[in-house]
Amino acid sequence: MAATKKNTSALNEKEGVSQPETLNKEIVKHLKNLKKKPQAVGELISGILSQNQAALSRAITIIESTAQKHQQQAKEIIENCLPHANKSIRIGITGVPGVGKSTFIESFGKLLISKGKKVAVLTVDPSSSISKGSILGDKTRMEDLVKEKNAFIRPSASGDTLGGVARKTRETIILCEAAGFDVILIETVGVGQSETAVHSMTDFFLLLKLAGAGDELQGIKRGIMEMADSIIINKADGENLKAAKLAKTEFNRALHLYPAKESGWAPKTLLCSAIKNEGISEIWDVISNYFETVKDNGYFQHKRKEQNKFWLLQTIESRLKSEFYANTSVKKELENQLNALDENKTTPFEAAEKLLSFKNA
Ligand code: GDP
Repeated sequence: MAATKKNTSALNEKEGVSQPETLNKEIVKHLKNLKKKPQAVGELISGILSQNQAALSRAITIIESTAQKHQQQAKEIIENCLPHANKSIRIGITGVPGVGKSTFIESFGKLLISKGKKVAVLTVDPSSSISKGSILGDKTRMEDLVKEKNAFIRPSASGDTLGGVARKTRETIILCEAAGFDVILIETVGVGQSETAVHSMTDFFLLLKLAGAGDELQGIKRGIMEMADSIIINKADGENLKAAKLAKTEFNRALHLYPAKESGWAPKTLLCSAIKNEGISEIWDVISNYFETVKDNGYFQHKRKEQNKFWLLQTIESRLKSEFYANTSVKKELENQLNALDENKTTPFEAAEKLLSFKNA
């Protein structure tokens, strides 16, 4: 009776043909491993291409990793994402701590999402490696934006050098674009050369400023004014509004003194209150206008090609440098030469010459 019942159950399984003894256990393990590795990377790639954020996050972690075993995987991921990249607009955002970058990105990001965009926010923060504490990363930032399903926020990669952090960010851009993000915001704080690095990986560069006491132009690094495609005076609200309007006039006047940009674009100063969400859509209008201009006149593609050349040379330089210093003979001889220099037995140029020829020998 019991047997009949068992046979009619939908859950019943036939015993099937008995399986032969497995092969050598070690071989089975090896075969499983072989299968697992490419699958993991393959799954990540197809995850990225189907716009899965968890896969995107994990892939970025692999790219950021310095572990030898991840290098090959990272290469494979990037190569597979590259054909699907390049379709976004990349906007660099800079300004001193406290100017309101994260408040601005929150308002701006939400506006873009309401327009049907997918927004990725990346940061370049070399301070995390210099001072062992991140300027941008310590506080909770962009709490609302982070909840949006069409937003992806990734704090800065850590690294020994700005070059290293910048390279990883650049590769992360490729992954984000392959995952369907059409606006990439890259935030940086005005320390060291990080602004130059972000400028060299973005299409549009936004400088956030605060109105001061009539001396706005003082203390601003000349190179940064030249890089800016637009200057935003933030916190243009309440008692600050009057000073902000004055600052706008002053910055606009100063911008006119710079030679015309290769892009054919005349940078503009705009006011905004990130916290009150005022002036944000006007900023988007200006940025959209910029992209129309440079896509029409060919500068958009030209700049991206120039940036690619720059990154090729940068990659070679940093590789040569790290290989040089990693060479054990060089390491030893460097110490000797530093001592000799200390004792005035050589000159910096003679010592450098010796070390460089030493490496080649
Ligand atoms: P960040 O360090 O550049 O990212 O600056 P935050 O976005 O963290 O802003 C620093 C402080 O300025 C915070 O207390 C913000 O609330 C405030 N803040 C940001 N934007 C505005 C604004 O438009 N108006 C005013 N009044 N305060 C703002």
